[in-house]
Amino acid sequence: MTLKKFVILQTMFMSFQSLGLSEALLKAVSKKGYTTPSPIQQKAIPPVLEGKDVLASAQTGTGKTAGFTLPLLHLLSENPKQKYRPIRALILTPTRELAAQVYANVREYSEFLNLRSAVIFGGVNQKPQAATIRQGVDILVATPGRLLDLQSQGLLSLKRIEIFVLDEADRMLDMGFLRDIQKVINSMPEKRQNLMFSATFSKDIKTLAHGILNHPVQVEATPENTTVEAITQKVYRVAKGKKTGLIIKLISEGNWKQVLVFTRTKHGANRLCEKMIKSGITAAAIHGNKSQGARTKALAGFKSGRVRVLVATDIAARGLDIPLLPHVINFELPNISEDYVHRIGRTGRAGASGEALSLVSADETSFLRAIEKLIEMKLPVQIIEGFEPDPNASTVPIKQGQGRQSRKPRNKSNNSGNSSRNSNRNSNSRRPKRNNDRRN
Ligand code: AMP
Repeated sequence: MTLKKFVILQTMFMSFQSLGLSEALLKAVSKKGYTTPSPIQQKAIPPVLEGKDVLASAQTGTGKTAGFTLPLLHLLSENPKQKYRPIRALILTPTRELAAQVYANVREYSEFLNLRSAVIFGGVNQKPQAATIRQGVDILVATPGRLLDLQSQGLLSLKRIEIFVLDEADRMLDMGFLRDIQKVINSMPEKRQNLMFSATFSKDIKTLAHGILNHPVQVEATPENTTVEAITQKVYRVAKGKKTGLIIKLISEGNWKQVLVFTRTKHGANRLCEKMIKSGITAAAIHGNKSQGARTKALAGFKSGRVRVLVATDIAARGLDIPLLPHVINFELPNISEDYVHRIGRTGRAGASGEALSLVSADETSFLRAIEKLIEMKLPVQIIEGFEPDPNASTVPIKQGQGRQSRKPRNKSNNSGNSSRNSNRNSNSRRPKRNNDRRN
């Protein structure tokens, strides 16, 4: 047997038991139906259990949440619980949805352990969150804004943190959370274990990692900035005005039952959603102008199959846990290439195959080139009869803020839910600037 074959077989047959996780955790994992640890879990769990700092490159859908949650729970449960439960582990996530999803996982994996957890994020009343924390929690999942709000009111303390997890660090920077992250770090004890997860690895992320992590072990589930291999990617060149017709045709004729569609703006998401519904396709939109309740309802409908199409903006879609999603469509390409990787990471999850389609008009040509450069791959192009691109259309990229309705002043609670600090987040970020409409 060749060494390569041996390594592949070893990976396939590795068990959760062999990773050294406690019986209580193995029971929870088995209840979830997992049989084999995913590659990122195989690589990240052992060093975390050894108490090392870890820098992990892992895309959405790779099982990264269990990759940090399982060893974190193992380590916390090894130490006897303290009478007054201070927060011992902090998991920081960029969005409410991701926070809620990570918290759900923490709850499931800790079912057979004597550990308490809580989640806090903006956009909802802080009182119940503060009350839960007052009763004592071992693990806190939080978005930065609400965390700092409660901390500044003296409602929580990070002075006893033993393990700090920064999830989706690239998205954190993208949303301008750099300053907030630094504030959070300054509130924690210097001696702690740090785990940082990111799908993409820009120079800024590496700088951030350098500032947070102490001699980290680097683990990688997939090569840097590349897309999941199981995903079939395709570009449809189409005239801008014919995109809606084309997407409806693709979904109807393909009889696709669960499609995640990305638009550039919240308004665009609403408009497309309405048109889909008019043509008989059940659809719901999810973005930052929707209340938390509306988002939860839309996601639940989509997961249960009642809603065929979920139309989302980038940030709202981050962290959505939708297993085995077969189709992702970029109604518009993102102007930030890394977002393309995040978007299509919504399909082909946990080894399942998926299809990622992009409808590209002339003014998105430069976005397409930038994406191809990032993923180091030329995407196959198709033109559908009746939906041809406009040969006379300009290839000048769409300006940020173009093609949207004039907007009322922002309402705090409609923000990403992480406090009024959001209004100048972009000035904190060294990443390419986003237009406000793309937040959430
Ligand atoms: P994540 O990347 O953490 O968002 O996880 C993606 C999906 O994979 C979630 O639906 C998890 O429940 C699932 N998952 C995580 N670990 C495993 C595993 N070892 N085997 C099968 N599914 C998994």
